[in-house]
Amino acid sequence: MEKLLKDLFLKVKNLRFFGKKNAERFVFSLLEAENEEIKSLSLLLERLSAEKSICSNCGVQGLNDPCSVCANDNREDTLLIVENSREFYKLEMLGFFKGRYHVLNGVISPFKAQTFEDLNISNIKDRIDKEGITEVIIGLSPLPEGEITTKYLTKYLSSTNCKITRMAVGIPSGQVVENADDITLKTALLGRIDA
Ligand SMILES: [Zn+2]
Repeated sequence: MEKLLKDLFLKVKNLRFFGKKNAERFVFSLLEAENEEIKSLSLLLERLSAEKSICSNCGVQGLNDPCSVCANDNREDTLLIVENSREFYKLEMLGFFKGRYHVLNGVISPFKAQTFEDLNISNIKDRIDKEGITEVIIGLSPLPEGEITTKYLTKYLSSTNCKITRMAVGIPSGQVVENADDITLKTALLGRIDA
């Protein structure tokens, strides 16, 4: 393979979620694409690189700080804690959750040497006060790492006056929230239990 193609292949392959097969597909489809298509894709990527940001309030990765949910005063006073931005967008696209989000950008993980302090939690108690949050829903996957993080969060937030619940019903143990189907996710969120 020529160096340019090899470099491109490696860059795409190393992106999260791509892997070898998808990287091959991507590179070969670019080779077959019209030059105009490649140029407009490259312009969009440049714009994305210049404009992407992280919401300093909730931690979601996107294009605006604050994000559209944090900037909306009409959201309900329920705060849903999720592991990553993909889960934020998935739930937001489903459209039934009207509260606010807080994105941890990780979970406690001995394998990745990630501790509770590494998570995006430094402003969460401030948010609960300032935004008048009455209920915090912990929406982490029922995997060992999610379970440990849920325990830490429950303890950490026990000094606040809000109700602390978790999504439980519906999501089978071991399944990741972002992979749960829409109905399962809705059932899990509506049928939440005390943490
Ligand atoms: Zn936000």
